[in-house]
Amino acid sequence: MRLCVALLLGMMSVLPSRTALAGDAASLRVVTSFTVLSDLTHEIGAEWVSVQPLVGPDGDAHVYQPTPADVRAVGKAHIVILNGLGFEGWMNRLLDSAQFHGTVVVATDGVIARKVDGHPDPHAWQDPRNVRIYVTNIGNALEHALPAHSTQLEARKALYLEQLEQLDLRLRTEFSAIPEARRRVITTHDAFGYFGAAYAIEFLPVQGWTTESEPSAAVVGRLVAQAKSRGAVGVFLENVTDPRMMRQFARDTGLIVGGRLYSDALAPSGEAASTYLGMIRANADALLGVMRKNSAGHESPTRGSTTQTRPDRSRRSVPARTIYARTRCLNQHGMRDYSQ
Ligand SMILES: [Zn+2]
Repeated sequence: MRLCVALLLGMMSVLPSRTALAGDAASLRVVTSFTVLSDLTHEIGAEWVSVQPLVGPDGDAHVYQPTPADVRAVGKAHIVILNGLGFEGWMNRLLDSAQFHGTVVVATDGVIARKVDGHPDPHAWQDPRNVRIYVTNIGNALEHALPAHSTQLEARKALYLEQLEQLDLRLRTEFSAIPEARRRVITTHDAFGYFGAAYAIEFLPVQGWTTESEPSAAVVGRLVAQAKSRGAVGVFLENVTDPRMMRQFARDTGLIVGGRLYSDALAPSGEAASTYLGMIRANADALLGVMRKNSAGHESPTRGSTTQTRPDRSRRSVPARTIYARTRCLNQHGMRDYSQ
């Protein structure tokens, strides 16, 4: 393995860097639905590919409405890459409007999707092992379109797959060192089912949550009770939801606010989460920070229900799968209110 990484890193030194993307040498025009796909395409395609995401950093592809400029961009593209699994409900109409006759790549083709209420959960990129399939699909399409560069593209793809594997192994080690009962957090958008399944973390979406109006005292009280009964160790904001209510929620529960988790979009250029690998690392660090703080014995209002002597009982009362099935990923308007 080490030899393999060293070999790939050696090859990387003679391959174009990401900074070369700013050049005009790109011959293949690729449009992707959102930033994660653009980053993966950049990583493999380097200077030979120009990539444009339709939904930019911190955007929300669930509810995106294509613009006339998007129609023009798709009309000029050679390849359009989308996530699939129902993530981009607007894409077919856009392809029709642009009269697109190029190659459409569904990055999740071959991924075993989680199901929510009988529907596939589209957030498959939250598990780095799934992204190996994304990268393979994207890489194959680029190699097919640019046969003259297939050797270089293949090398870049292999390097990236190696980086994904290393990241996955590291996270597996880090999360497995956290007591199981501490791997339980509250989020505002249920985009982390795949991440939770990969690293045995319970993401408990808040029920009764809405950011469309000022929450009532009754709603806040109900949320506080839910958080305490579920034994969460922290509460996390996300980059596509309104943080207003979560701050109040954290104050009232005394839970640690773990900062942002990046779910459906990368951060703007220059930030750590502006790449896929950086995003996963940033999310993991945010989660581990809160879990380790609790593990180290800091006071938490939920300690009584999360001690290691009672984890099974607590887990049985709130199985992650059940929680997940009651919610679905919505959009910047917040979680559906299931309490009504
Ligand atoms: Zn989502």
